[in-house]
Amino acid sequence: MTKFFLTIFLVATFGSASYAQTLKSQKINESSYALIGEIGGRTYENQGLNANYGVVVTKDGVILIDSGASKQGAELISKEVQKITAQKIRWVINTGSQDHRWLGNDYFISQGAEVIALSKTVATQKLMAGGQVDSVKAVLKDRFNGTKPAYAQKPITQNDVALDLGGTKVQIKYLNHAHFEGDVVVYLPDQNIMFSGDHIYVDRLLGVLPQSNASTWLDAFNQIESINPKVIVPGHGNICDLNKAKRQTGDYLKFLVDGTKKYAEEMAGVEAAVKGLSNAPQFEKLANFNELHKGNISRTYLRLEAQ
Ligand SMILES: [Zn+2]
Repeated sequence: MTKFFLTIFLVATFGSASYAQTLKSQKINESSYALIGEIGGRTYENQGLNANYGVVVTKDGVILIDSGASKQGAELISKEVQKITAQKIRWVINTGSQDHRWLGNDYFISQGAEVIALSKTVATQKLMAGGQVDSVKAVLKDRFNGTKPAYAQKPITQNDVALDLGGTKVQIKYLNHAHFEGDVVVYLPDQNIMFSGDHIYVDRLLGVLPQSNASTWLDAFNQIESINPKVIVPGHGNICDLNKAKRQTGDYLKFLVDGTKKYAEEMAGVEAAVKGLSNAPQFEKLANFNELHKGNISRTYLRLEAQ
């Protein structure tokens, strides 16, 4: 009796102390799941896993979508997958080149998985690796130990590819330059589920970074609309449908692109654009709005001006 309670106590304490709610596992259907990360920034506590991951169980093993920001983060993802299925992770698909999409690759390769990515995605990963290692290490400190950038063993040269992985049809599609150049979406046509990577943010505001291109990102979003997925696992935020994705990502990109275009045509300058567009009540309930909105306007404007 005492031993029984002690075991329960230890399991409960270990679970909450080490991995408190870093990733929330959600079932979509009999074979597909999402691991939902926090919508704030990277922290030591969240292991840099402030993003979402996909888990698809096939008859021959698990497909994991994105690999985390470090070796320890990858181990944590792997533990979450073990709670879902006894099958091994056999394939890891990278939807992009931001740290939390791929710096865990090396761990999964060491466990026998194949990493799958388009050449276009790998090219950006290689370009960014050095800077990302430095910036993530600064946040994760000792929790970054043992992390090494590693890439898809056989990058795919096409921009749109249909694979059969363990009897499950998987499409990997490059649509346009979005959050980072080379970002892709992963689509399961038979289940009508899309793992959108950083093309779609809900519940929090998306970030237009210096590497992002809001105009072509909007085009990529329009292509996602024509694919018309029933269920979307966004890059950040909760599982959603296309309507919510449109309200919180598509409409926001359109607001930025159309809005800044007007100021750029008049050569009004970036300050006027930021001032004129900073009031956007339809988006201000999204998390991180105050931190990101003005920077998003100015980067959208400056890229438009440079084109
Ligand atoms: Zn991201």
